[in-house]
Amino acid sequence: MIVESIAGVLTVYFLLGQFVHIERIVKKLLPYGIILVLYLRWVQLDQGLIKHSLLEMTLAKCRTYAPIATFVAGDAIVIITVIQLTYIVFDYLRKLRYGLSKKQAINKLGNAALATLNYIPMLQRKVRSEIQKIEKDIEHSIQEQGKSPVEFPKIYELPAKGKSPEEVLDTMTKMVKGEDARWKDGLVSGAVYHGEEAHLELLNKASSLFSVTNPLHADLWPSVVRFEAEVIAMTASMMSGGSPDVCGTLSSGGTESIVLATKTHRDWFRHDHNITAPEVIAAVTAHAAIDKACDMFGIKLIKVPVDPVTFQIDLKAVQWNITANTIMIYSSAPNFPQGTIDDIEALSAIATRYGIGLHVDACLGGFVLPFARDLGIPLPKFDFSLPGVTSMSCDTHKYGYASKGTSVVLYKNKAIRRFQYFAFSDWTGGLYATPTIAGSRPGALSAACWASMVKMGKEGYMEKTKGIMETVAIIKKGIKSIKELYILGNPQAMVVCFGSNEFNILKVSDHMSKLGWSLNALQHPTAVHICVTVRHIGKGEKFLAALREAVEVVMKDPQGKLSGGSAIYGMASTMPAGPVEDILRIYTDATLSL
Ligand SMILES: *Cc1c(COP(=O)(O)O)cnc(C)c1O
Repeated sequence: MIVESIAGVLTVYFLLGQFVHIERIVKKLLPYGIILVLYLRWVQLDQGLIKHSLLEMTLAKCRTYAPIATFVAGDAIVIITVIQLTYIVFDYLRKLRYGLSKKQAINKLGNAALATLNYIPMLQRKVRSEIQKIEKDIEHSIQEQGKSPVEFPKIYELPAKGKSPEEVLDTMTKMVKGEDARWKDGLVSGAVYHGEEAHLELLNKASSLFSVTNPLHADLWPSVVRFEAEVIAMTASMMSGGSPDVCGTLSSGGTESIVLATKTHRDWFRHDHNITAPEVIAAVTAHAAIDKACDMFGIKLIKVPVDPVTFQIDLKAVQWNITANTIMIYSSAPNFPQGTIDDIEALSAIATRYGIGLHVDACLGGFVLPFARDLGIPLPKFDFSLPGVTSMSCDTHKYGYASKGTSVVLYKNKAIRRFQYFAFSDWTGGLYATPTIAGSRPGALSAACWASMVKMGKEGYMEKTKGIMETVAIIKKGIKSIKELYILGNPQAMVVCFGSNEFNILKVSDHMSKLGWSLNALQHPTAVHICVTVRHIGKGEKFLAALREAVEVVMKDPQGKLSGGSAIYGMASTMPAGPVEDILRIYTDATLSL
């Protein structure tokens, strides 16, 4: 009997994964069950049907049934042990299949070893002097980078006397002139998504009109509040799949949208299912913003691999890692590194079946994919037309062509969105509620964002998307014709990622930067990508010419050393994560010092 019951329960758990539901239902019903039992006991006591407390009865029963109790306890121990052992085996299998990669394991060991060595005073000194050397190097290289073409004296404290507006603007104009040239030629991957003169002028005028506004004061500036609502409505209408319930909020950027979606799922599942140790599942290709969000909220983030050929999230790995504590699966449309779109239709089915959330990171794709689809480019489903999708992030400040500082986070319905809000009624400063992380918000940016979307219109976005997708097609075809290179995955959007079996591809990006092109370096696996924007329209052949030249140069000495920025990636790949992250913090220090 017992063996059959255990087998039955485990079959349900492993094969159907329904244990998640049962556990949640039991947790929810438990308090009501206790109240019901107490009530029934009270009624029986009232009617004189019982004379002893449960404890007395239990003790009496224990005495009578001691031998049976021993027997039952023995069985219970065995049952629990078997279940625990099964959990351990299951966990081991999961780790074996989808746990630490070799690199991660080495990382862990390396970090532990370094931490131990750090206790030895002699080594401590050595490490410290090494770190100081690295600090100096980094500071030096940043200062080199920060050198403006015109010399401006550095300001270390508030000037005693103010300068005239003309003088201030004159300095600033000279500063920005030196920096404009870099992106205006269209040689930078991503970074500037539109950048045409007339468009920039509109954004600047719109934000200057509303430069004092703050949507926190809805009574003072109803128009910026309306801009926000309209930006959200316009974005929702592109993604809703026809559902009138899709809604959202305006945030300061992709990262905040992702942080907010994570917070919303955390609070939603805590409220509905009492989950206090939440877990999120994301592919290794997910944007680092999800790592940051989980880090901020103390959420366990389970990273699963991607298919080595398609670079889409491994669906089996996702299913293997779902537990009763899973609140959200994170997917990308497309992801940043390879520009591939996860199988969101399949993820939606999984999310629906297990009753968990599904976030679609369309930070990059939000304002490209819907228009590409309408242009007739075959694309998989990725939005709220899929029933499992519970939230999405769409960056207006990328392909929405707005000024930096806005993004939209969307939800399946208002009930979910409400978990994002903060409301506090007891503050001595008054009744307080905010929709996002910020308190005061820049109405100027909402105004510029609104201006961008209304000026572009669907027609404008379609036209730019057409140009971008044509450029992507040219670049893809060109790279395929270079025999030393290969494309990673099947890029369906505006990112094209490539690598090489002949040499370290970072050498190509090094040489490309000598030719004035700034590409993105990627790791695990080592690759390079270009994120095609409006700046690249019509420059596909120019890019390919530079790429061919770079490959030719590298092929003259394919085993040569890495230089420039790539050398850092080369070094990082040989070190455990701890020291690399220390160096990243040192780098951040350096960017913040004069
Ligand atoms: C840019 C980007 C983000 C984060 O956006 P920020 O605006 O930089 O905070 C998230 N996901 C993807 C895929 C992105 O490309």
